[in-house]
Amino acid sequence: MLTGAGISAESGIVTFRGAGGLWEGFRPEDLATPAAYARDPEKVWRWYAMRYAQVMVAEPNLAHRLLAELEREKGDDFLLVTQNVDGLHQRAGSRRVIELHGNITRARCERCGHRQKLPPPVEFTPPPVCERCGSRMRPDVVWFGEFLDAGLLASAERAFMTAEVALVIGTSAVVEPAASLGRMARSAGVFLIEVNPETTPLTPLADLSLRDPATKGLEKLLGG
Ligand code: NAD
Ligand code: ZN
Repeated sequence: MLTGAGISAESGIVTFRGAGGLWEGFRPEDLATPAAYARDPEKVWRWYAMRYAQVMVAEPNLAHRLLAELEREKGDDFLLVTQNVDGLHQRAGSRRVIELHGNITRARCERCGHRQKLPPPVEFTPPPVCERCGSRMRPDVVWFGEFLDAGLLASAERAFMTAEVALVIGTSAVVEPAASLGRMARSAGVFLIEVNPETTPLTPLADLSLRDPATKGLEKLLGG
């Protein structure tokens, strides 16, 4: 299972690619980078603080809940890999989750690497300070141009190549290397299903491709 920003669209969280992807005239690609942070950390933190507040008022939707239910049925045979940083899968009850791109509700110390949960949005004034060493912290997310955690990626790849079925939901499949998980699964002979209202580079490879929003597509697949 791989999910992208599209699965949270029906919870009111805007995707990067598509309508509403702009903030004060800046594109996400110009804010979610190490260079943007080096240039203007306050601006980048303000953007993350705004997104963090949005995520905390959002609720998991039926698609998140159906995946949590599927995990309860499948147990250890189930793995959810997500590109999302919103934590909605966990709030819907998913437990076996790999967050390839980190989590927007946490910060990471620029000096000692310590991670800590952000205070509630109303009490939070960015940037946070490390409780261990007092240094400035950055959002605990993977930015454009940064590497994913190699161990997490290896676990995700292993799961995709040995699965019976791989399901890819709500990702534009252009952000590498997560985008290649579907392709790897397909080359390993795994049955590949895509759910996305738009076609993506993965669509021609999929054994089954549903042109539906996540909630409707998962209801069709899982009979929710
Ligand atoms: P993306 O923004 O590139 O693409 C979103 C995809 O979702 C598109 O293909 C679109 O057609 C599809 N979509 C739109 N509405 C949908 C719906 N109702 N149901 C199903 N699909 C729908 O997203 P991405 O591929 O995940 O990559 C963007 C990067 O942005 C990731 O690295 C991610 O970390 C980050 N991001 C995360 C969030 C989040 O956590 N919710 C939100 C925005 C961006
Ligand atoms: Zn520190």
